[in-house]
Amino acid sequence: MLKSDSPGKRFTWLPVTTLASGMELRIPVHIVTGSQPGPTLGITAGIHGDEYLPLAVVREVVQQLDPGQLKGTVIALPVVNPLAIETQTRHTTTDMLNLNRVFPGDPHGWLTEQLAAVVCEQFLPEIEYLIDLHAGGAQPIVDYVYIQNDEGMSRAFGFPALYRPAHPYTGTLTGVAQDHNVACVVVEMGGGMLENDLYLARGVRGIYNVLKYLNMLPGTPEVPEQQTVVTEMSVIRPHKGGLLYPGVKFEDIGTVVPRDTLLGTVVSPYTFDVLEEIRAPYAQNLMILLRPAITKVHPGDYAYMVADAASA
Ligand SMILES: [Zn+2]
Repeated sequence: MLKSDSPGKRFTWLPVTTLASGMELRIPVHIVTGSQPGPTLGITAGIHGDEYLPLAVVREVVQQLDPGQLKGTVIALPVVNPLAIETQTRHTTTDMLNLNRVFPGDPHGWLTEQLAAVVCEQFLPEIEYLIDLHAGGAQPIVDYVYIQNDEGMSRAFGFPALYRPAHPYTGTLTGVAQDHNVACVVVEMGGGMLENDLYLARGVRGIYNVLKYLNMLPGTPEVPEQQTVVTEMSVIRPHKGGLLYPGVKFEDIGTVVPRDTLLGTVVSPYTFDVLEEIRAPYAQNLMILLRPAITKVHPGDYAYMVADAASA
């Protein structure tokens, strides 16, 4: 049991298993208990180990929250996959699994499946609401919020671009949380070590917005006048790897560009030949994820995400 009756802040661990080295694998947990009764909001970060900004957002929120103002409880897991954070990888390198594709996990399965099972058995039953924070990883930068089973809560986070997927990924934490009747928001923000201050502030404001929306804090959410909800989105993956030179800049995220706009150029690091030009696929393309700097790109990697603005 993570929740307690006494107001204040508490830190504890969820033990998972013993690693081959003998080190204990455990998930850190921050609990902020409000002075008045109310619902329980879970916040997760670090499910993917190459996404650091969400950790900083959780740190800020846990430090700033005043239990005297709070109704209910916030349970925050800033590092859901400590092994992936250690190696700065999307997957757990020990078993090569992506934690956010193996929920609800298996207590008798691989390491990452055991990790997922602990989260599902010991964290999910305690919460009614969940914000799962992600970022663009080590190189891309990203900016949108998923609409899942509570559109009002997703809108309240206050980001300008929202995405309602027709076919959600299977094996995600929020997919399983919804089966437990937990209202969920997935946030994709920042990454690429760019514009950290901006995204840190926006992430913290988003969580405060949701706390206000849920009446766990006084006040009303600060939401932009215009929010765009899209239903069609493409992940654009280059066929060939190499150096990816940007055709679009950070300022272009959240803007609409016309068909065939040059998003980026893949160049051979050996011959310097142009291997591929990546162009915008829709008549009107809302820029969701991009790489604003020269980066290395793998064949099939996340190079860009664009939404069909006509689906808004
Ligand atoms: Zn992620």
